Formats: sequence, structure tokens, C-alpha cells
Amino acid sequence: MILRSKSETLFAEALNYIPGGVNSPVRAFRAVGGKPFFVNRAAGCRVWDVDGNEYIDYVGTWGPAILGHAHPKIISAIKAAADFGTSFGIPNPSEVTMAKLICSLVPSVQKVRMCNSGTEACMSAIRLARGFTKRDKIIKFDGCYHGHGDSLLVKAGSGALTFGHPDSAGVPADFAKHTIALPFNDTDTVTAAFAANKNEIACVIIEPVPGNAGLYLPKPGYLEFLRTATQENGALLIFDEVMTGFRLAPGGAQERFGIKPDLTCLGKIIGGGLPVGAFGGRADIMDLLAPLGPVYQAGTLSGNPLAMAAGIAALEELTERQRAKGKRQKPEAAYERLEQLGAQLEVGMRAAARSAGVPVTFNRCGSMFCAYFTNEPVWNLADAMKSDRERFKKFFHGMLDAGVYFAPSQFEAGFLSTAHNETDIEQTVNVAMGVMKKL
Ligand SMILES: *Cc1c(COP(=O)(O)O)cnc(C)c1O
Repeated sequence: MILRSKSETLFAEALNYIPGGVNSPVRAFRAVGGKPFFVNRAAGCRVWDVDGNEYIDYVGTWGPAILGHAHPKIISAIKAAADFGTSFGIPNPSEVTMAKLICSLVPSVQKVRMCNSGTEACMSAIRLARGFTKRDKIIKFDGCYHGHGDSLLVKAGSGALTFGHPDSAGVPADFAKHTIALPFNDTDTVTAAFAANKNEIACVIIEPVPGNAGLYLPKPGYLEFLRTATQENGALLIFDEVMTGFRLAPGGAQERFGIKPDLTCLGKIIGGGLPVGAFGGRADIMDLLAPLGPVYQAGTLSGNPLAMAAGIAALEELTERQRAKGKRQKPEAAYERLEQLGAQLEVGMRAAARSAGVPVTFNRCGSMFCAYFTNEPVWNLADAMKSDRERFKKFFHGMLDAGVYFAPSQFEAGFLSTAHNETDIEQTVNVAMGVMKKL
């Protein structure tokens, strides 16, 4: 067992002042048992805890660290911006740069508004969809997480799922009653919901590749179906790309799968590790926002210059770095690299499970992945729930004690970064081989 005494002391102290000792529930390790470690430094694909233990990190601060931790260009952009002031509450030039970058990279986004978290992005996009359509009801999917806004905490994923409270206390039934939750990857239930709620459904919100109940992919034709079904019923299609945006492709899942939603929610990567969110889409819809239109949305720190500087540096590095070096490679070089690393991890983890005789379904999309401890394919939340969670717990702790940090819950995705390399992955697979043999 590796020593984590300083982390334990800090956690004990934190419990006195912070509910559960953490500022976001999944960090408390409740889903895997044991106590969380405290990090005081991260660089590249590694994090170091306060006791000096080193881990290869596959959480990447839950997605934002696609270039690895403490990327030099992001850090120097933040430092340079900080010298000019940390917040103005007055328009600043970097907001325009960021908006132009997002509109040029994300296929369906013509106009975009910045906010401070993915939660805000989803709440605001829903409000906008309701304002635009003048309808109240929304359709979401089991296991999809769209932040912790009231009407979205129905059959949500991520922490809400792990803790078995899919419907949070404190959400009035009156709010939740407008939310229709359906199984992912099933077309009949969507058709039936539209038929039963004629002219009442404002929007369908979906993670195009759900990464908050582990990771599963849309079946071929499913996203196309949703695009058509929403159009036919006068509802908007919202892609929540807070996680998949700039991760599955420069233009996110909508680029990868070739579907244009009406609205898109963004976050995580666009902040380069600083708190940020954004939502954007068709100009005619976006122009309904205040001050132009009747849909109110605002933020004291929205478009914050530090967050903009960090995010711009991240997006430029992701999409232009090979070109900048004059290597005559495509700007998507970072994504090809992530795909290679993902494939190596996938092949290695499947082989490790096979050789240990442990049933594992390893799902992957680019640099996002999840290992479910089941023989059966996983296409939705019900499938994901078949994973042997006791096995996952042992697997998690075995990996952690050997210096590999996977997310502390079965129902979270893993993330690769461009800072991981072949050796890191080889090491991870070797550790996994040993850990799985003891499951
Ligand atoms: C993380 C996430 C959110 C919430 O973002 P926060 O910044 O944590 O509020 C919303 N949707 C998806 C798909 C996410 O992965």
C-alpha cells in the first residue's frame, strides 16, 4: 500500500468545513470506497499528490486537459492576461477572438455566448429553446448529464447516477414534470413521445456521445433520426458537447458524425482549465437572447479575460500547432495522435482483460473511453448498469495503488491527452494486466 497520510489529514480537516469534504461529489471516492487523494501539482499526463505519489492521469480534470496539465502555452497566456487585470465586466477583445474561433471550428455555430460552466450553458440553451419555440417540455436521455440545472436533474448521469439519486431533492416536481427522460439509442420511444406531446416539445437535448455514464456511442443513424424527428416536430435539437466539443474533432461530435444541431453547449476544453462554458448555434435563435431579444441570460464573469486567454491558447494549440511548426501536417494532427493513443490503449486493455479471463467491454471514441466489467455490449444506461461494480472498485484501487489514476466511478469516461505517450500507455496496460489477474 502506498502512503497517503497527508491526504488523509487534509480530507479529515476538509470534512469539518466542506460538505463531504469536496466541492463536487464524485471527488469523494464514494463510488469506489476509500478516501480521495489531494493533488498539489500536475504536469503533462501526470499528477502528484501531497504525499509525493505520482500517477498517470486518465481523468484530465474531467476532460479539459486535452493538451495535458500545465501546458506551457496556456500557462503563459494566463500569466500575460493576468498582468492586464483579472476581470473587467466590460467587453474585451479576447471575447471576440474566442467567439470567432468557436464559430469557425464548430460547424453549426453561427453565434455564441460565453458563460462560466457547462451547467450554465445547458440551462441557458434550454431556456433559449423554450423561448424560441414557446413550448415547455424537453426530451433528455437516461444517463446523459447536462449539469445540475433543476429541470435537467432527471435520470442524469455522472455523480447523480453514481450516488443513486437520479432525481435530486430540492427539485420541485413542477419543474421536473416538463422533462421527458427516454432511453438512449432507442428511436421508438422518441417517436412515441413526440406523438403523445404534439406541439409541446421545445427541444431534444443529448450528449451525442454520452460520457457521463461511462461511455457509449450512438448507433449508426440514431443522431440522423433525432435531427429529422426534431425538424418534423418543430422542436430544436441541442447537442451538449461540453465534453465532446474540441475532443472528438476540432468541431466536436457534430463534425465527427456530420450532424448539425440547432444549438450546442460547450465547456471544459474551451476554458483551458479555467472555469468556462458557452452555448451557440443558429443566429436566428441566438438573437433571441437579451439584449436583442426576450430570453434573459447574463454573467458578471462571463467572457472573463483569463478564461478567454487560456481557452484561446488551448484551441489554437489543438488546431494549429503542427502548422505553426511548419511541419506541413494537417491542423488535425493532434486528433490523429489522440486516435493512435486511444487505439493503443483499447487494444492493450482488451488483451489484458482476455489474458486475465475478466469479461470487459471496452468502449472508445477517439480519446474518450470506458471499461465496463461485463461481456455484453453497452449502448445505453441499462446496459452500463450491468457492469460488475464490485470488480470495478477493485480494479480502480489496484490501478491507483500502482500509480494509474482512472476516474473513481464506473460511470465516468476516461480521457487521453496529447501529453500521454506510447510508454505511458504500455505501462498502464502492464499494470492493468497484473490488476485484472487478481480480480
Ligand atoms: C461536465 C458536463 C457538464 C457540466 O459542466 P460543468 O462545467 O461541470 O457545470 C454538462 N454537460 C456535459 C456533457 C458534461 O460533461
